[in-house]
Amino acid sequence: MILVKTIDELQHELSKLGANDSLGFVPTMGALHRGHLSLVEQSVANNTHTVVSVFVNPTQFNDPKDLERYPRTLENDLKLLEPSACNIVFAPSAGEVYPEPDLRKFNFGKLEEVMEGAHRPGHFNGVAQVVSKLFAMVNPDKAYFGLKDFQQLAIIKNMVKQLQLRVEIVPCAIIREESGLAMSSRNELLTAEQRENAKIISETLFKAKELMGQKSVEELVKWVLETINKNPFLNVEYFEIVDDEQLQAIKSWDEKNTKVACVAAFCGKIRLIDNIVLN
Ligand code: AMP
Repeated sequence: MILVKTIDELQHELSKLGANDSLGFVPTMGALHRGHLSLVEQSVANNTHTVVSVFVNPTQFNDPKDLERYPRTLENDLKLLEPSACNIVFAPSAGEVYPEPDLRKFNFGKLEEVMEGAHRPGHFNGVAQVVSKLFAMVNPDKAYFGLKDFQQLAIIKNMVKQLQLRVEIVPCAIIREESGLAMSSRNELLTAEQRENAKIISETLFKAKELMGQKSVEELVKWVLETINKNPFLNVEYFEIVDDEQLQAIKSWDEKNTKVACVAAFCGKIRLIDNIVLN
């Protein structure tokens, strides 16, 4: 495994690949955990070479405090990646990725008007800026994204379509802690007491899936909001049950599409997201 920090170094390493090699790519913001490593494992299993990027992208943070407190643990990340058989770790500086401000404005229509898009203005534009740049630098055959960031995955697929890129986007299952809490770099910022209470978020989603047949959509939404919010450590920012393609709130269980229940909740100052496929 080799660590590179510049685009020149990256492209020098990539130039060693042969015509029959295949390249998998896992973009991350570091502070790696088993969720990230599961993406790396899938890339390693399905490609001759794998690049993992570690870059805390400033343009996708709408809250400067969130950017400031985001964990940065490159040394430990390298230790975690070492046994994974990943070939190249690309950890550029902000100046390397943005030698000048990125003025591009993407338009994702309805997809960005809901949930994360509605609550984090500019977030998905920043995600699209960095991922499109990283795709241009790495030029992967396949790129691996977690279903934990369900809306992000829809945005990336849409971006690939709009830009007519040849990369295949591979969705990967959510990896959870034993308690059910979805793994996240932000979990490291929780106190032990907060972490214990944060598991209520996933517990409530699992229960919601069971209750689906017994309540209307409206009743279930109300029940989830009340159940999470009655925990004094938690405060729901949004909970929505949406279709898996356009990500629009559904009104009735009779609608045909796959239905996904998505939540964002604050645990103290830390914002956590999770989701579950209901059918
Ligand atoms: P991040 O470092 O948070 O930007 O995440 C990098 C990638 O890892 C994204 O595609 C995430 O969706 C994915 N990821 C983060 N947490 C998990 C998890 N618990 N399970 C599966 N994938 C995850």
